[in-house]
Amino acid sequence: MSWVEEVKRIARGRVLEKEPMSRRTTFRVGGPCEAFFCPEGADDLAAVLKFLRAEGIRHIVIGQGSNVLFPDDGYDGCVAGVGNGMSKVEFDPGKLEAEAEAGASLNELALETAARGMAGLESLAGIPGSAGGAVFMNAGAFGAWISGPLTSVDFISADGERVRLDAAELDFGYRRSSFQDNPGCAIVSARFAFAPGDPAALKARAAEILELRRGKQPLDMGSAGSFFRNAEDGGPAGRLIDEAGLKGRRVGGAMVSPKHANFIVNAGGATRADILALADIVSSRVKELFGVVLVPEVRII
Ligand SMILES: Cc1cc2nc3c(=O)[nH]c(=O)nc-3n(C[C@H](O)[C@H](O)[C@H](O)COP(=O)(O)OP(=O)(O)OC[C@H]3O[C@@H](n4cnc5c(N)ncnc54)[C@H](O)[C@@H]3O)c2cc1C
Repeated sequence: MSWVEEVKRIARGRVLEKEPMSRRTTFRVGGPCEAFFCPEGADDLAAVLKFLRAEGIRHIVIGQGSNVLFPDDGYDGCVAGVGNGMSKVEFDPGKLEAEAEAGASLNELALETAARGMAGLESLAGIPGSAGGAVFMNAGAFGAWISGPLTSVDFISADGERVRLDAAELDFGYRRSSFQDNPGCAIVSARFAFAPGDPAALKARAAEILELRRGKQPLDMGSAGSFFRNAEDGGPAGRLIDEAGLKGRRVGGAMVSPKHANFIVNAGGATRADILALADIVSSRVKELFGVVLVPEVRII
């Protein structure tokens, strides 16, 4: 029996063969993976990961695919997409607490907590990722981070153990968590404790943020959001790219967005090779003009 057949036998959730990663990522780029697995719960994910590890089969856990770039010729292994099943959120309004499965939509969590008068995530409205992906990346916007109201995270360790760590132990920083140093870990859920807030004011803030995003970001085209991290010594990457006159610059189907210079967009039929070639041009030009080294925020798989 092939390993894909074996995964199908073990898994409770759906397993799709030769699933194009262009369908599973917001960049809309990437060739087929051997198996795309949609776990139905932490136990389902743990069972499949245990098998893949024991057999030495390449694998990766993703959420909504909004910060990843997969190879054009595909991924020779199993992609576990937790954003396609593990998405329950439980609220404890009496205590202003919530627990979200890793695949829960971050945007919905931000809007729902705001509507319930739970303050802390409203500024993250509109980020198109999952709770787990947001923890992995320490997603943030407008001065707030997912790590702010986060209290603890449950994950499956590289040894297959179920572990809970307090947020304080996860070394959060700008777009950083300790999960980035431990790629074998699979985040299964996150717990939050919120400050009390006025639901109307929190909802208004979330709506304002959504409006700001619509005004500034090219949301009608495939992308992974900001392509580069903001440079510590150089300020916002978007400003440097704009000042370098690179808005609208293209390689094949990839383009530096004329609306937001730090967004590399898929203007139609972009390949990963196009995107990386364009990213190279951008970073070389910015280095040449301003002496600043831009580092991708997007995870190049
Ligand atoms: C239009 C647009 C706007 C954006 N705006 C912002 C913004 O304002 N702020 C911001 O911070 N980001 C922004 N992003 C980027 C992205 O949405 C965030 O980084 C988001 O948190 C990624 O979540 P995801 O579920 O899509 O992760 P994915 O892209 O699926 O994965 C990202 C990384 O996390 C890992 N990962 C994901 N889930 C798990 C898991 N359960 N266990 C272990 N590892 C996991 C993956 O292996 C990968 O390395 C934007 C993206 C787009 C397309």
